[in-house]
Amino acid sequence: MVLSFSTNPYNNYYAANSKEFISLDKAAKQDIRPETRYDLLPGNADSFAADLEKYSKQYGYGFLLNIPTMRQIDATDANVFIYTNQIHMLETWNRVTDENVAINANEIWGARDWTRGAINNKQIAEMTATRGEIGTAQAVTLIGRKKFLERWKSTILSHQVMQLLTPEAQIAIKINKKKYQWTDPLSEETIDDGRSLLNEVLKLMRPDVQTNVYAELAKIKSIKPVDHAFNIIKWHSAMESKRISIEYKVPGAYHESQYIMDYLDASLTVEVKSFKAEVNIIRNRYLRGNPDGWNASYIAGEIIKTYNNMFEDGTWNREIGEKDQIIALTTKLTEMQAKFDKQIASFATQAAIKENPKDPAPKTDTRRSKKEHYTVEAWRLIKKEDTVSVKGKNYFWCTGDHWSGGEKHNGMYADHKTCDHDSWRKTVDDKRAARIA
Ligand SMILES: [Zn+2]
Repeated sequence: MVLSFSTNPYNNYYAANSKEFISLDKAAKQDIRPETRYDLLPGNADSFAADLEKYSKQYGYGFLLNIPTMRQIDATDANVFIYTNQIHMLETWNRVTDENVAINANEIWGARDWTRGAINNKQIAEMTATRGEIGTAQAVTLIGRKKFLERWKSTILSHQVMQLLTPEAQIAIKINKKKYQWTDPLSEETIDDGRSLLNEVLKLMRPDVQTNVYAELAKIKSIKPVDHAFNIIKWHSAMESKRISIEYKVPGAYHESQYIMDYLDASLTVEVKSFKAEVNIIRNRYLRGNPDGWNASYIAGEIIKTYNNMFEDGTWNREIGEKDQIIALTTKLTEMQAKFDKQIASFATQAAIKENPKDPAPKTDTRRSKKEHYTVEAWRLIKKEDTVSVKGKNYFWCTGDHWSGGEKHNGMYADHKTCDHDSWRKTVDDKRAARIA
């Protein structure tokens, strides 16, 4: 059992009262100031995991993130255990169980008997000669040093997990402190087990993996080369990272053949004739029973190679044609503008509801009642200029009482100006009254 050949100082053993230990411990705990602190929202789960992974390498606690589900006793020493069948806490979603976590916490802090141990009031067990942790003259043995390192890393992990959370999220987690807190019966001091605490965070941040994967599967189809300025390498990275993120969550949910089809279809949206021809050759061969047994990485490799060759010899830039690029980018922009306008219109409606929560059209009014309300086109609710021209007709921004979707809008494009609103209203009401009579 070798402890000290690592170049990472956090992988060496130091006595708990040594200067080195105290300064490294402070650097890993008090001095930690993460750039981003996260709320317990599913949308933050991937970034939180990426930050923690980075810290785990720096502070040498990566092994703690990999939870063993089996333990065997070493044939040569009854105090040495071999841990196997690990499940990675960050690279899988909802696979590590509370039991897996509790058993392993008990290995580090408790009785080390491969059980969950006490549910409440968890007591830290001392290092003992029986377990081979203390040798002659009370010296800490190699087994003891390993245990000490595990304990130290576990406290670094719990500290850094907390630091990565917003104060509100920390409070939400502390409600479950019984699940991760251990007490030292000698000093009455409490410590937090890193894995148990992380487990509580992940359970809240990653609640429903199926829903999440469903959303991501829909998203991957919208990752197109146009979003990456037709740089195939960058687009490829975006596709791969999304695919890996789905694979972590529900292994096998995104079937390789489906990924290959999505990949080929997206490649075919690039308007470069020679490139499209090459992609089509690959696609046809794949669809005709894939006789060469190509997998996703082979096909992606071929497509990237084709792109690189065409980029080098100038074919790419010659054929991509600025016009096509501009058309594609404009289409993208128009789509985004439409989404944006829709969002603004919905905000405008929400604001109107807020302003006039109990102000529906009066029943005696001859105006259309809520039951038969109609909705104006979204653009009419978004102010640009006082006067706009749409399809050859002028519209004016009128701040009189107008209705859309059953809600009042004091601001809408109409065929009259604000100053003419009252006379317009009278004309409309008169006409309607005449129709009813
Ligand atoms: Zn008006």
